[in-house]
Amino acid sequence: MQTIQSNLEHIHQQIKDSERKFGRLTHSVQLLAVSKTKPKQAVLDACQAGQRQFGENYVQEGVEKIQYFQEHHNDLAIEWHFIGPIQSNKTRPISESFDWVHSIDRLKIAQRLNDQRPNHLDPLQVLVQVNTSGEESKSGINASQALELAAAINALPNLTLRGLMSIPAAVSSYEEQLQAFNQLKDLFDQIKSQYPQVDTLSMGMSGDMEAAIEAGSTMVRIGTAIFGARDYSNKQ
Ligand SMILES: *Cc1c(COP(=O)(O)O)cnc(C)c1O
Repeated sequence: MQTIQSNLEHIHQQIKDSERKFGRLTHSVQLLAVSKTKPKQAVLDACQAGQRQFGENYVQEGVEKIQYFQEHHNDLAIEWHFIGPIQSNKTRPISESFDWVHSIDRLKIAQRLNDQRPNHLDPLQVLVQVNTSGEESKSGINASQALELAAAINALPNLTLRGLMSIPAAVSSYEEQLQAFNQLKDLFDQIKSQYPQVDTLSMGMSGDMEAAIEAGSTMVRIGTAIFGARDYSNKQ
């Protein structure tokens, strides 16, 4: 508890420092706490420190947490973001439980999420995941195809297009990190100029948060620096 709380304070301070250093508006960068593999108690501890936006990567784990918090702590009004790879046979539980999805990289997935979104819920808030590194193995659509996917998503009534997300390849230098993030920012500006509701550029993790903020990130996704190292032994 103590640790999670002080880690959150520390990250908020770092975000504030980076906003100031790079001439960004105060509070223009939101913090998404990535709680994948972490127990519910860790989420609760973060909530007690004021955190309300959480990111999950695994469908079953995420849905279980969401149901638990809706049942026992609905007053917290947590906002849940799905940030992991999406298999098309797993779209239904995502669409029925989450508030946001960051990892849409093809139309088929967007269409299924749209069709499966329950009517009593607000539209799902979505981001197009872009792969700027051009590596075959990484998920995300190529930058050249992102505008087309954004246009298709914008036409789906149960999805609200909010922007872009990216996980650039891990590179060693700050300059290289910045270069990849700057590419994303250019693409984001193009999409934002076409769709007035677009306001979210999800980029930056524990290891590259500062470069992401310099380039224009509006949401950093931080796991390790809040909750500590992850134990994947129960994941395949
Ligand atoms: C795990 C994960 C994060 C958090 O990474 P850390 O390095 O632990 O901060 C952010 N984004 C995505 C998509 C992730 O899968």
